[in-house]
Amino acid sequence: MTTAPFTPLIQLSGVNKHYGALHVLQDIDLTVGRGEVVVVIGPSGSGKSTLCRAINRLESIESGTITIDGQPLPAEGRGLARLRAEVGMVFQSFNLFAHKTVLQNVTLAQVKVRGRSRAEAEAKGRSLLERVGLVEHADKYPAQLSGGQQQRVAIARALAMEPKALLFDEPTSALDPEMITEVLDVMRGLAADGMTMVVVTHEMGFARSAANRVVFMADGRIVEDRAPEEFFANPRSERAKDFLSKIL
Ligand code: ADP
Ligand code: MG
Repeated sequence: MTTAPFTPLIQLSGVNKHYGALHVLQDIDLTVGRGEVVVVIGPSGSGKSTLCRAINRLESIESGTITIDGQPLPAEGRGLARLRAEVGMVFQSFNLFAHKTVLQNVTLAQVKVRGRSRAEAEAKGRSLLERVGLVEHADKYPAQLSGGQQQRVAIARALAMEPKALLFDEPTSALDPEMITEVLDVMRGLAADGMTMVVVTHEMGFARSAANRVVFMADGRIVEDRAPEEFFANPRSERAKDFLSKIL
């Protein structure tokens, strides 16, 4: 939870995108302040993943602007790579390098992108593995870990770049129920430490306890953007009422 004055870190203004005839992002305006945790929820196909991917320019947009810490996200080039490194992303499917050890997974990009020495990168990597409770697994390969452990490695890997913000796209959806808590606990710890986070999730307990705001999307639009206690107690839109009645 943030107590510092509100400083915009991620800003989307008038963002539009189509896939063919499908208007997947429709006039999206969204501001995420430094230290805020914004949980994005909504029915399947509403554009949540596309929104996350647009913030990192893994998807192009057709109109509107996206700025990260005041810098407009360029369409391509070196400036894009630099800004992209400011925003880490954690996916449903972990996406670890299968043929690299856990430690290598959390050090490679530090050396390649951040230009750190191997020793420096390994020291940082080990401290991050400590933080997610996995330092004793540093020399294993991803396949030797559980899904929950792999996802915690993916979070450590994202943190290793010292991003200004982290995007999570359904980070626990591929996990067995008993592993969901260990990942959410790591995310709660990051939130408590002031990390700026955008989290697409179906975990309403996490939304209630960790989010500063809940953004509800339907059909490519942001339909509601409110404090979680207000949203869950009194959803305004029929779409949100309908959605909540199905999942709660
Ligand atoms: P969500 O994450 O909310 O489930 P997505 O952002 O993945 O929604 O998708 C929104 C809509 O865009 C869906 O109807 C999906 O089928 C469509 N879509 C997503 N990616 C593509 C793509 N690469 N090409 C065409 N349609 C896509
Ligand atoms: Mg999705």
